[in-house]
Amino acid sequence: MASKIRVRFAPSPTGPLHMGGVRTALYNYLFAKKHGGDFLLRIEDTDQKRFVPGADTYIQKALEWCGIPASEGDGIGGEHGPYKQSDRSALYATELNRLLETGNAYKAFDTSEEMDVLRKAAEKNGDVWQYDASTRMSMRNSLSLSADQLAQLEENNTPYTIRFRMPDAARDYGFNDAIRGHIIVSTGVLDDKVLMKTDGLPTYHLANVVDDHHMAISHVIRGEEWLPSAPLHGLLYEAFGWDAPVFAHLSLILKPTGNGKLSKRDGDQGGFPIFPLNWEDPQTGVVSSGYREQGYLPEAFINMLLLLGWSSGDEKELFSMEEAIAAFELEGVTKSGARFNPDKTKWFNEQYLRQLPTDAAVAAFRECAKGEVDQWDDARCIHVLDMMLERVSFMHEISAHRYLFEAPATLDEKLVAKKWKPETAGYVLQLKAVLASVESFDSSSIETVFKAFLEENNLGFGAVLLPFRLVLTGKGGGPSMFDFASFLGREETMRRIDLGLAKVS
Ligand code: GLU
Repeated sequence: MASKIRVRFAPSPTGPLHMGGVRTALYNYLFAKKHGGDFLLRIEDTDQKRFVPGADTYIQKALEWCGIPASEGDGIGGEHGPYKQSDRSALYATELNRLLETGNAYKAFDTSEEMDVLRKAAEKNGDVWQYDASTRMSMRNSLSLSADQLAQLEENNTPYTIRFRMPDAARDYGFNDAIRGHIIVSTGVLDDKVLMKTDGLPTYHLANVVDDHHMAISHVIRGEEWLPSAPLHGLLYEAFGWDAPVFAHLSLILKPTGNGKLSKRDGDQGGFPIFPLNWEDPQTGVVSSGYREQGYLPEAFINMLLLLGWSSGDEKELFSMEEAIAAFELEGVTKSGARFNPDKTKWFNEQYLRQLPTDAAVAAFRECAKGEVDQWDDARCIHVLDMMLERVSFMHEISAHRYLFEAPATLDEKLVAKKWKPETAGYVLQLKAVLASVESFDSSSIETVFKAFLEENNLGFGAVLLPFRLVLTGKGGGPSMFDFASFLGREETMRRIDLGLAKVS
């Protein structure tokens, strides 16, 4: 194992980065930072047919927004580049030749049609056919054919793939997974995977192993879907004569119902984003929503992902990036799938929203309420934030409370019908007179005179507070009415009382 901790995030640019991919990147990032190591970004684009334009830059932007940038990699640079697999073909060819020379790989000339026939025949008998140690000698490849036959095929430029040669005699292959423990597989069940396709391009398996070695990767932390490939990768390291990195396979992120893997479809149906940033499909123009555009703070999104499959062992839920780095251990990663909870994600956003430093909160509020608060000074914005931040999940929800900007056009009819008594208007008018003469129109002075007014008239809170709220906001709930009246100021408060009373009568 390399002495320095070096981990990589190795997405395939076949579309936008799913939140599961962000979680993989996050755990890699935390592990690297915790151990003073490096976090690399490698773009695995060997499958050119599935390449989606813009996906690679999307990935970089997403990692930046999440606050987990790579320190080395595609678009960043570093000593082990290039970091895009399509730029590394020569290296794969050289390394593959070594496997051919040592007899660990071989050329196979069988066409996919020929193999389909065998597969279908086996299926009929309820069997599964695969290209492996038991079948390869009956196929057309450099192990089974004579030198003359091979020479002939090569002379005719017959297309071929290069396959890995699994051990001729089955044996147990074991490796340690840092999350799942010791895993043993019989090589007898593994097929001779294609390492190079007929077009001369490497497959994922070859490129991935060659790159992890040449980029001095110490730990491979990736999704569970790659666990079945790990024995092949381990055997490839053996065949190359290289030390394998430590493997750690993360469990799946499950749907909110807990049944099955979370997919893009669940997001569309459940009304929550699956991607960190908005993504516009370059072919269809369809836009999938992102956490950023939905109003999530990156800290909240990341904190949610941190706990989606990892636990520090105690009840702590809010982690700054520094705290996450300090606390993160692979041992805390859960083996079972982690169920995604969209409501909890909102909860995280609420927590981070309320923790925003004042300057940042004001800037974010101004951005969300553009055109409506441009003339406001910062103190007025802060007044709104003090009243409203604890009542919303997203900054942009604040401006949906229209009473902050204008007198209510209507008062909640049901509440008026239920709570507005014949004597109510009189109380509100009396209250208006009291407020007209209060010396300073700040929240606590308003509260003091309000309470004194109730006491003098022997009135309960409910008899006046709700009507007061209704005339000022039109609604039955909201911020403290003392705060809100002081925010409106004396003049506007008086005006709204008159308007409101006119509406009820
Ligand atoms: N390119 C693979 C993916 O997109 C990476 C798997 C790995 O990390 O080895 O999932």
